[in-house]
Amino acid sequence: MGGFDAHTHLDLMGEPAAAMARALAAGVSGVAIAGADPVRWPEVLRVGAAVGAVVTLGLHPWFVDAGWEVAVAALPRPTGGVGEIGLDWRRAGDDHVRAHQIAAFRAQLALAREAEVPVCLHLVGAVDEGLAIAAGDGLPRPGGLVHGWSGGPGRVARAVGLGLHLSFGPRELRTRAGRASLRVSPPSRLLLETDAPEVRVDGRAAEPADLRRVAEAAGPLIGLAPEALLRRAGDEARRLFLVQS
Ligand SMILES: [Zn+2]
Repeated sequence: MGGFDAHTHLDLMGEPAAAMARALAAGVSGVAIAGADPVRWPEVLRVGAAVGAVVTLGLHPWFVDAGWEVAVAALPRPTGGVGEIGLDWRRAGDDHVRAHQIAAFRAQLALAREAEVPVCLHLVGAVDEGLAIAAGDGLPRPGGLVHGWSGGPGRVARAVGLGLHLSFGPRELRTRAGRASLRVSPPSRLLLETDAPEVRVDGRAAEPADLRRVAEAAGPLIGLAPEALLRRAGDEARRLFLVQS
């Protein structure tokens, strides 16, 4: 079945269909698109249907403000999952913003549990806090992924113990902590992503076809041939997102 890019914002790419064709040519046959900003949810759904991607929609912590309840109430459902949702303390200036992020995160976790769809989590600068909420409130039955894992190797076991998958992309593989995290992650919980087009590769915006390069960088770190890792992580992503293969 080939590779599966577990986290993208393909709707933000100029020509998503062309990017998907290049991905297919590179052996990347599946893509998940995460909606983050409510204004863009309809476009995410449209692009997802056009290219045959898994779509998850959520209110991303960057877009959480005092009006979060209205946005979450308007979340179209059901989709392939809820996300991206979570906490980002680097974008939370004060306790009010943090409180809103926490409330929006918990409300959307509840929606995912109710719909029994996986969650796509964005946890930055607040990995302990995010995992504590996931542990206390509970994850949806199918589980979820932490995209762009930034929790370091020391928190991997905790996340895995909750039933989460960890996803790594070009940004994480450039850091020592990211590479160390990858080495201690169980292969059965490992996903690969590009976060296209939000991450840069060779001075240009990443696209799903670059997932092959992510596998080439990650494979040797865990003793797997890139092709085998691409396939294995792809199978795991399809299982998580309940994609028929
Ligand atoms: Zn994202």
